[in-house]
Amino acid sequence: MRRKLFAANWKMNLDPVAARDLVKAIRAELDPELGALGKEREVMIAPPAILIPAVQQELAGSAIALGAQNMYFEDHGAFTGEISAPMLKAFGVTHVILGHSERRHVFGETDELINKKVKAALRHDLTPILCIGETLAQREAGDTTKTLTNQLLNGLQELDCAQIARVVIAYEPVWAIGTGKNATPDQAQTEHRALRGVLIERADEDTAHNIRILYGGSVTAENVDSLMSKPDIDGALVGGASLRAESFVRIVRALKL
Ligand code: PEP
Repeated sequence: MRRKLFAANWKMNLDPVAARDLVKAIRAELDPELGALGKEREVMIAPPAILIPAVQQELAGSAIALGAQNMYFEDHGAFTGEISAPMLKAFGVTHVILGHSERRHVFGETDELINKKVKAALRHDLTPILCIGETLAQREAGDTTKTLTNQLLNGLQELDCAQIARVVIAYEPVWAIGTGKNATPDQAQTEHRALRGVLIERADEDTAHNIRILYGGSVTAENVDSLMSKPDIDGALVGGASLRAESFVRIVRALKL
């Protein structure tokens, strides 16, 4: 049984007061349930880097994990504006989102850079959430499978099976992120199943079976149940709907109500 992961990506939103209020509201609902739910589902919140200390304080004593939205692959040095894995770990971060489509398309991150970051995260015992996804043009050109396969294999370069098993994959079609247009559950399931097939070839059956593949792209309280009912969808990476306690809590409770 793969443990479902529901990950909140706050992107560049909120201030310290609003961040603390949001965590309090989420904890009030989820803390009492996470003991029982914790075996089957995991919850993570990734605030903007500057809000990590505030959110760390606010999460004290909770089973909800703390994540980061990005990091650099070097540990320290002359890298103005960057944050490293050891720095994140010092503030209780356990997960890091890497290769998000906004990092790829707005900030020009390449597969090669993302692979270095994945390796750095693993070296420091952080769980990397490796994001991959096709653009609308790539989908319309029939290049979805090729694009996803390339991003996946490039992101996992030089990793052995034991390392691959520690990575979480997030399939996020670029055309579905922040657009209100989610992939249909069947579309997402098709890609997730295909990605698991690629992982069987790249690693082995066990690794491919155990690795978690999240879906991200306009996940809401309304569509989460149908997405999570698919056998190869192991949770969600949630942007917009994670900024309101009510919708994020409902998403974490997928298929439970
Ligand atoms: C994301 O930021 O990873 C995301 C999927 O955003 P949204 O849920 O807003 O589409």
